[in-house]
Amino acid sequence: MISIKTPEEIEILKEGGRRLGIILRKVSEKVKVGVSTQELEDYARKLIHEGGDTASFLNYTPHGAKRPFPAAICVSINEEIVHGIPNEEPYIIQDGDLVSLDLGITHQGLITDSAVTLCAGNVSDKDRKLVENCREALFRGIKAAHGGTHIGDIGHAIESFARPLGYGISEGLAGHGVGYKVHEDPFVPNEGERGRGELLRPGMVLALEPMLTLGTDKIILDADGYTYKTTDGSRAAHFEHSIVITDSDPIILTK
Ligand code: MG
Ligand code: MG
Repeated sequence: MISIKTPEEIEILKEGGRRLGIILRKVSEKVKVGVSTQELEDYARKLIHEGGDTASFLNYTPHGAKRPFPAAICVSINEEIVHGIPNEEPYIIQDGDLVSLDLGITHQGLITDSAVTLCAGNVSDKDRKLVENCREALFRGIKAAHGGTHIGDIGHAIESFARPLGYGISEGLAGHGVGYKVHEDPFVPNEGERGRGELLRPGMVLALEPMLTLGTDKIILDADGYTYKTTDGSRAAHFEHSIVITDSDPIILTK
């Protein structure tokens, strides 16, 4: 069932999203060659704790997972698409890496979710373009998500931008409702048809998150039970914002 958040809940989500946006920017500034993923995890936890909020992903067990997620932040490198674990076998960021950060925080009981991909050191033009275009794909999706349109319009906007550029769109991974839980209904695919799927109604809170690759759509789950990678080893990018549907353009919570 798709929940509609009250105006009071939306005010809390706005504040949570604002805090998340600041934390994600601060952690992003730490992403440099030679920094370990453990340091990013520790820094994210410190910032969340200082604000008096909690890390929504830490100890969260998504549907189908065999164990709780062990970290506050997901850090996914290069061919890793999403849900990389930063603190079990910490990785030192290398020159030319693509580093995706995905973070959720719970503020006064309500969750917002956001992700960015960063370029460490000297990244190839092709990789840099992938990152820029993935961000643009997110904004195309957000633009399509105004009240009175449908879930399919979001996927259509993302797909019709990304496919002609030759990018893969990771299959089976999608955006979602968010707020009371990390993952709520509806499922928000990154491909779709205009006018199809659920009607977008004011008060719906959605996390939109295109995941684009330089190669395949196919994904494989790593032995750690969380990290999704491209099956062909091609690099991936991921951007995400939590938004509120209104009568007109959506409100971006996590800017
Ligand atoms: Mg996320
Ligand atoms: Mg998400």
